[in-house]
Amino acid sequence: DDRVARITKAIRVIPDFPKPGILFQDITTLLLDPLAFKDTIDLFVERYKDKDISVVAHGLIFGFAYAGVEARGFIFGPPIALAIGAKFVPMRKPNKLPGPVISEEYSLEYGTDKIEMHVGAVQEGERALVIDDLIATGGTLCAAISLLERVGVKVVECACVIELPELKGRDRLGDKPLFVLVS
Ligand code: IMP
Repeated sequence: DDRVARITKAIRVIPDFPKPGILFQDITTLLLDPLAFKDTIDLFVERYKDKDISVVAHGLIFGFAYAGVEARGFIFGPPIALAIGAKFVPMRKPNKLPGPVISEEYSLEYGTDKIEMHVGAVQEGERALVIDDLIATGGTLCAAISLLERVGVKVVECACVIELPELKGRDRLGDKPLFVLVS
């Protein structure tokens, strides 16, 4: 698919960000390329439009604990949700959501972190797709899955633009399907 080639080309790799030794996958350059951005959304929509999904939940976009830049916005989830006729449910770092929340703790390379979701955002029995920009160790997606499953939602699949396969996040997801555009 030449769309995947265009998407891959549009992702910028920045060495030593946010700290030495890390090759940061920067999707902001993908957003600067309207064709590649549209291809990204289209590929997900084509895959999920007839899957009876009523919830698109987001992992923490840029929920990169040590980069501390979580609030750059929810980019991929909302356009996919609109296109497939699903609701969009943000999952956020602690103390960002104003209403009552339920939360799930997850482990990071050093220490732990937490994600939160509004109580009542989803109903038991709904079918969800969990989206994130990137899967590294899989910790963030696992936390999102647990949170949704705790309230009786079926997570049909997880989808990311980018997978860093050497970190084996896919293994951590167990038998939960993971769909990625660029590996
Ligand atoms: P995980 O929980 O280890 O799988 O890390 C995934 C989370 O970290 C996602 O929410 C990503 O947004 C963020 N992340 C990790 N590495 C990168 C990167 O290279 N670029 C952008 N985000 C990253």
